[in-house]
Amino acid sequence: MKLVVIGSGYVGLISGLCFAEFGYDILFVDKDQSRLKSIAKGVCPFFEPGLDDLLNKHLNSTKRLTFSSDLTSAVQQTNVVFITVGTPSRRLEDEADLSAVFEVSKEIATNIQKYCVIVTKSTVPVGTTKKIKNIVSKKVNHNKFDVVSNPEFLREGSAINDFMHPDRVVIGSDSKKSEKIMKEIYKPFFSQKTPIIFTSIETAEIIKYASNSFLATKIAFINEVADLCEVTGANVQEVASAMGIDKRIGKNFLHAGPGYGGSCFPKDVKSFSATAKKLNVKLSIVDAAHSSNQKRTVKIASKIIKYYNDNLKNITLTMLGLSFKPNTDDIRESTSLIIARELLNKNAKIKVYDPKAMKNVKKEMGELEFCENAYEACQRSKGLIIATEWNEFKALDLIKIKSLMEKPVIFDLRNIFEQNEITALGIEYFGIGK
Ligand code: NAD
Repeated sequence: MKLVVIGSGYVGLISGLCFAEFGYDILFVDKDQSRLKSIAKGVCPFFEPGLDDLLNKHLNSTKRLTFSSDLTSAVQQTNVVFITVGTPSRRLEDEADLSAVFEVSKEIATNIQKYCVIVTKSTVPVGTTKKIKNIVSKKVNHNKFDVVSNPEFLREGSAINDFMHPDRVVIGSDSKKSEKIMKEIYKPFFSQKTPIIFTSIETAEIIKYASNSFLATKIAFINEVADLCEVTGANVQEVASAMGIDKRIGKNFLHAGPGYGGSCFPKDVKSFSATAKKLNVKLSIVDAAHSSNQKRTVKIASKIIKYYNDNLKNITLTMLGLSFKPNTDDIRESTSLIIARELLNKNAKIKVYDPKAMKNVKKEMGELEFCENAYEACQRSKGLIIATEWNEFKALDLIKIKSLMEKPVIFDLRNIFEQNEITALGIEYFGIGK
């Protein structure tokens, strides 16, 4: 089986390579030719654990991968096209920008020759896949194609494992023929007893947004509880862990912190609510989570600024962790960068270190001082901010850190340290919700 994957970003490249693991031939299409060229040479355009090895295995050993920036010939070579292009927020708006999805759909429409299933794996608002159907119907007889919604749930940082061992696969279709083809594609999951959910197209689209919005709400919820813990002397980590033991609640996504960021939650939460609003439905809980989260990151920055009496002139601070979460170099909507900007606005000097994301941050925030490692970043610093919980920060030599800093104080925005252990070293400590 040969699959065409349009868009070779986090979702496209990872999905395509995982499909290659199933034994399928994959043709990657992307409008970014330099990205395709570097992937074809074995160079991943972003960091994801295990991705380099997987790419090079399928380039050099199985030889299941081909690349093209020409969608025309690509569509003619397959029965299944996955759309995995980006759907960011529209500039200054909450709705998803679907221009790439529709552009690709029009190109697919002009090139279909034999029966083809067009699969939206990009996260798209309810109704979008049917709009694609309408676009294609203008050029192609309805017998010659079907559309399917197959949202992706992988998480950056553990994307390969998530794809290969998903909690569930969701397939929204409106024809038996396309359902059968999707069943065939995901056949390897049947043996590992992965739940495969067949639904209508609209249901599949909503499952994705409802899932992300629910997880975002959980985070926003525990962050507000953290605020209450702080003023009452309670400990949010203990609250969350006791809550999480309850199977109805679950322990995941109950870690208090500086707010959620990343390439998905912020935009998906906004888009979910905006789509509902257009249909005269108010998702007030989702709106509240979004508003709470937006305020939170700025509030955390304000707390740090307040510690220095609102005056960060001539103050050097250290920020460890710039990516929106560990094990990725993705800095889209990273709370680290939002906080860094707030501190820079107050004239702070910020020395930063991140194991993987520095290259991306350098392109956006050259005014930061980039360091080789965590210890260099702490030299002569008057405050250490743990902004992303990379594992290597958990094992820092804090006695050494203390000796390097001009004023030993830690703002642990990810609660990676135990308060008592830090204060016992003579380091001032501020965690979240404790
Ligand atoms: P990305 O920005 O990393 O990649 C998008 C790719 O599409 C880029 O390589 C870009 O060059 C290409 N592209 C854009 N327009 C194109 C066009 N007209 N023709 C061909 N290629 C084009 O995006 P991503 O993070 O992989 O996200 C893709 C979709 O998957 C989004 O809808 C996102 O919400 C969803 N998603 C993302 C994740 C994640 O963790 N990143 C997880 C699940 C779902």
